[in-house]
Amino acid sequence: MARLIIQGGNIVSPDGTVHADLLIENEKIAGILAHADPQPEDTLIDASGLLVLPGIIDAHTHIQLDTGIYQTADNWEIGSKAAAAGGVTTVIDFANQLKDKPFADALAARQAEAVQSIIDYAFHMVILEPAHDLKQLEDDLESLLDLGITSLKLFTTYRPNYYLDDAALWHIFQTMPSGMVAMVHCENDSLVTDATQRLIEQDKTNWAYHAESRPEEAEIEAVNRVMNLATLPVGRSKTYIAHCSTSYSVFDVKQYRDKGYSVYCETCPQYLLLDDSVYAGSQPEHYILQPPLRSEHDRRSLREFVQAGMVDVISTDTCDYNLAQKQANPDFTQTPGGLPGIETLFLLMYTLFCDKLGEPVAKIANLMTVNPARIFGLYPRKGILAAGSDADVVLYDPLPESTISHKNLHYVADYSPYEGMRVKGKVRMTLSRGEIIYRDGEFLGKTGRGRFIHSQPYSTTRP
Ligand SMILES: [Zn+2]
Repeated sequence: MARLIIQGGNIVSPDGTVHADLLIENEKIAGILAHADPQPEDTLIDASGLLVLPGIIDAHTHIQLDTGIYQTADNWEIGSKAAAAGGVTTVIDFANQLKDKPFADALAARQAEAVQSIIDYAFHMVILEPAHDLKQLEDDLESLLDLGITSLKLFTTYRPNYYLDDAALWHIFQTMPSGMVAMVHCENDSLVTDATQRLIEQDKTNWAYHAESRPEEAEIEAVNRVMNLATLPVGRSKTYIAHCSTSYSVFDVKQYRDKGYSVYCETCPQYLLLDDSVYAGSQPEHYILQPPLRSEHDRRSLREFVQAGMVDVISTDTCDYNLAQKQANPDFTQTPGGLPGIETLFLLMYTLFCDKLGEPVAKIANLMTVNPARIFGLYPRKGILAAGSDADVVLYDPLPESTISHKNLHYVADYSPYEGMRVKGKVRMTLSRGEIIYRDGEFLGKTGRGRFIHSQPYSTTRP
């Protein structure tokens, strides 16, 4: 039996960090031992001085994205390699519902692209046209569970392609099976459309005005409305508010949680590290994304809310557009939105919260491992180092310091929103199902080795 022992590292579990050996047999974790006795045929990896973490899960990625207007510059091989270099061993990406076709076709179409991946992947299903007949809608949503999809993605904005009105959201919330979670992009489309239209009337469409076109009130209103719709009258729908950019959104989610509802919230590194001052800077096009960057006050409050345990998941919403695409038209209404970030997710969050703010590694790692695994039905297969779990492991050296430069990153965007930031630590090795796929700058995992992971209904993964 092929055994691998990661010796003498600091193993990060949901409750804390222990100095121990990690034993891997074939694709699975066999155990955490104070001292594992090596056999002659075992492969040994010295992890002294290193953090041994569960593989990072990025629960919100857009690899090889085609919005119908823009296509990101990456593909699944590039995107999954960038992920592996950043210690990410599972992504939860999106499959878009296809017009008049069953969800199985939408999943198959997306799987055909992801087949290049070197890491494992799961999907949220983007609902674009919910069936009008409510019994049909219920059956449709139920059928997703058999396909291994336990989360929906719903949009309150982006007319006409993605937008769902209140009635559509309401019907989905009423009919979705209890094992399912609805991830919602919350921005009030009417407020965004109005603000954008007023800027156009004043010829204020250059990149500097991007944030004004999507005011924070649009997000705050939609977050509140979505939670209201999701919890009235049955209160059973599980809701996940994607990419909270304002501190008020996180605060409002907490109000609902305190009432006993299953509502979760996500934020992203960009909202914790950057603010809207960049739109007055020399490269505002680097920061076109939806929702946009907010005030310094919001950035600081969001950090405090993460520290206070009010945020469930940190993910990237990564979109790998290059500068040629970002700069093709100096008009924010004609510029693809989204930032590259998958490779720097853990690095940036470790630096901010653990190195600078002194938070325990386990507390921050949980937001990118066990929490998304539980909410999206991957636990306990993913998100934890425990006997029987997939041997997805990251060895992180907490000591080296470096400066972020897009030249050292593996995605194709020829810029980084975090260019020049000082960071602490480095991913030394990434294992996926017991196989070393990345080591000290070198990719060892074969293109296409990644697998589609069937998510399990919520009740089986949430304690
Ligand atoms: Zn997104």
